[in-house]
Amino acid sequence: MLGTLAKEDHNVLYEAPVTAIEGIETDCPTVRYEYDGKECELTADIVAGCDGFHGAARQAIPSDVLKTYEMVYPFGWLGVLAEAPPSKEVALFSHHENGFALLSMRSPSISRLYLQCAPDEDLSKWSDEKIWDELDIRLGAPGWSLERGPILRKEVTPLRSFFSEPMQYGRLFLAGDAAHVVPPTGAKGLNSAVADVSVLSAALIDHFKKEDDSLLKRYSDVALERNRQVQRFSWANTAMYHNYPDRGAFEQRMFEAQLRYLVSDETPQILYAQNHTGLPIEYWPDI
Ligand SMILES: Cc1cc2nc3c(=O)[nH]c(=O)nc-3n(C[C@H](O)[C@H](O)[C@H](O)COP(=O)(O)OP(=O)(O)OC[C@H]3O[C@@H](n4cnc5c(N)ncnc54)[C@H](O)[C@@H]3O)c2cc1C
Repeated sequence: MLGTLAKEDHNVLYEAPVTAIEGIETDCPTVRYEYDGKECELTADIVAGCDGFHGAARQAIPSDVLKTYEMVYPFGWLGVLAEAPPSKEVALFSHHENGFALLSMRSPSISRLYLQCAPDEDLSKWSDEKIWDELDIRLGAPGWSLERGPILRKEVTPLRSFFSEPMQYGRLFLAGDAAHVVPPTGAKGLNSAVADVSVLSAALIDHFKKEDDSLLKRYSDVALERNRQVQRFSWANTAMYHNYPDRGAFEQRMFEAQLRYLVSDETPQILYAQNHTGLPIEYWPDI
């Protein structure tokens, strides 16, 4: 059964999976979704596709238009959430011959820690004690070790770089993981989603309030320009910190040299900090 949401009923719907987005090349695209056991549809002026990497929005762009770029890394991250005060007041990134490790924090009493592992790592082989021991090996320094505590959650996350072009087609505008995914080494995924939405919302305000479509027409170009820089940083950062099973000895030494250069000189540190904390707003052309 098909239902239509009347204008006055527009609201946030939860548990309403979108099954298809149609007519994006027309003035009146249709979003089909399931809700309360029924098949429903919603017509709209504009569709913002913010439904993550596995959502329906990107699939709505014709395959002869959509170009995708992807790199799947030959490793993953074994992540743990631990009931332990963060061992440092700042995040620690470590490159070690056993692999990358990261100490980060959620609150004064909860730490988030990661170990580079195989993409299909078997978690049953990792007792809590083994995880803490390996974190100490990769992150520890003489006379300093991690604050340990009960591990509340552990999971393995594969690492991927992905982006698609264009980010708009007809009346459909992609934002966030629907259009691009970065490996977590740069902690840029959520920031990039918010950056997209801040451009798209400005463009939609211009469209609806001022009848000015100039930014909306350039949304894909503006968002992609920034996203390529985010992809570059996340990819380069991942390459610098991790061990690659298929990397030659020369390349490995070069990435280690890059890391040593970063920690030894203020100039690369300024560039690194700028990329990490976010490119300046001036980077967005003409906004
Ligand atoms: C383990 C892990 C750690 C991370 N750490 C960081 C970090 O430290 N910093 C950072 O910036 N980023 C981090 N990220 C990335 C960040 O979580 C994502 O980049 C961000 O959540 C993307 O937001 P989004 O809204 O585009 O997509 P999502 O957060 O994926 O949201 C998409 C939403 O759409 C819904 N949806 C999907 N399909 C449909 C459908 N067919 N119909 C209706 N709804 C649908 C989903 O249920 C979801 O609610 C991390 C990711 C992971 C997995």
